Amino acid sequence: TKPNIDQTAMLVKTYACQRRTPLKHHNSFLTEALEILSQNAEYNDNEGRSVAFRRAASVLKALPHRVKNMEDLRSLPCLGDHSQRVIKEILEDGSSREVESTRQSDQFQAMKALTGIFGVGVRTADRWFREGLRSPDDLVRTGQQLNRAQQAGVQYYDDLQKPVTKAEADVISDIVEKAVRAVLPGAEIRLMGGFRRGKDVGHDVDFLITHPEEGKEEGLMPKITNWLEEQGLLLYEKTTRNSYLEKMDGPARAPNNMDRFERCFSIFKLQTGSETERAVRVDLVVSPYSQFAFATLGWTGSKLFERELRRWAGQEKHMSLSSHALYDSKQNLYLRAKTEEEIFAFLDLEFIPPSERNA
Ligand code: ATP
Ligand code: MN
Ligand code: MN
Repeated sequence: TKPNIDQTAMLVKTYACQRRTPLKHHNSFLTEALEILSQNAEYNDNEGRSVAFRRAASVLKALPHRVKNMEDLRSLPCLGDHSQRVIKEILEDGSSREVESTRQSDQFQAMKALTGIFGVGVRTADRWFREGLRSPDDLVRTGQQLNRAQQAGVQYYDDLQKPVTKAEADVISDIVEKAVRAVLPGAEIRLMGGFRRGKDVGHDVDFLITHPEEGKEEGLMPKITNWLEEQGLLLYEKTTRNSYLEKMDGPARAPNNMDRFERCFSIFKLQTGSETERAVRVDLVVSPYSQFAFATLGWTGSKLFERELRRWAGQEKHMSLSSHALYDSKQNLYLRAKTEEEIFAFLDLEFIPPSERNA
């Protein structure tokens, strides 16, 4: 027999990495509201609050039904008082006053516009906001000092605001494959991020590159970007060298989302018609073969899923997970893995396929 709603709720696990979260779910009318509050907390540099709202939203994404009343929420994890208040108001009145006033607020809209510029983080956006600036146009008009990334961000702002479609991602994939094959035959390229999770649009396109012969991948990125540059396909690129050292980055370092792979944050010029083109954000990451499974897991997302994996590893398993490695603090050793499945198994987690990591 089908479990009733309350039984379903009792089966919802606490950590997002223990749950299956499909891309399409039944509670967008609630999760979008909670994510506005999460985003606003982030704009106000309140990470704890931001994560709390995001976790609450994520639990609702995993439910196999639409929430109809507060009873449906009994025994669900991660729903704090504040989230429950917001949900109750939406269920009763169709919307939440706090959410709507946040959405309309000058600060929220300005921070959204300013952090939406490539190269601009919350701190910079907040400084500009307090100086009275509200939009990319304001930055140009007042002649703000911008770094190279931000200049590109302002220049290509309109294009980069437009979602990248899967069809565009496929064209970029072909280009990246051609570039990589030209400079390092035998290299493997994998589409990562939201597109690997089955999204049909994204804010960028993410790729992970490796070579089965360890060491061959060293210094690969400049060769790729040179090739792309020669073809006139790059509008912007910033390459960062690999700085990972197992003895320094492993157990001693706090688990952090920022990894140390050789990587390139770029903007591609994509031909969209015979005389039309657009700018597209592309992230390229190069991983040594021995770290490829960890890199794959780390670059598939979602961001909350990744965060929860690391929290699960640390709090429940006394392990430290990064996009490079898994360290077991009880046994004092690194756990080697060739596949994502093996990493889930080390962590005592049921394997969750990419399409159900949309936490
Ligand atoms: P979107 O469709 O909006 O691009 P996304 O899930 O692909 O969504 P990204 O910001 O492109 O989001 O990130 C993709 C994955 O790469 C995420 O899992 C994120 O954790 C990881 N990631 C992004 N930046 C870094 C970084 N600097 N270091 C390590 N991992 C990162
Ligand atoms: Mn992405
Ligand atoms: Mn990305």
